[in-house]
Amino acid sequence: MSRLLVEIDGQTVPLTDCFWVRVDKSGCAYGSMVGHAAATPEQAHREFAPRARDRDRDVRQGYTIRLLTREQWRQQAQPCFLGQCVHRKAAA
Ligand SMILES: [Zn+2]
Repeated sequence: MSRLLVEIDGQTVPLTDCFWVRVDKSGCAYGSMVGHAAATPEQAHREFAPRARDRDRDVRQGYTIRLLTREQWRQQAQPCFLGQCVHRKAAA
């Protein structure tokens, strides 16, 4: 599992160097975990939301699970966790 490679935007990277994030429909990140914690978005979603009812609600509300490289995580997810992202500014 630790040697699993994934392709993200044309880059091949080890899954261990990636992060799964749970994002709302505006792209704002609400949860994050290391790449090797799951092998598929479905598995990652089960980690974020163990109860099927919660996962169904996520899907209905437009939440998605994305796999990001370390660099993408820094650019796209970290500002959300710091409350400094464009999504929250747009919503404020
Ligand atoms: Zn955000």
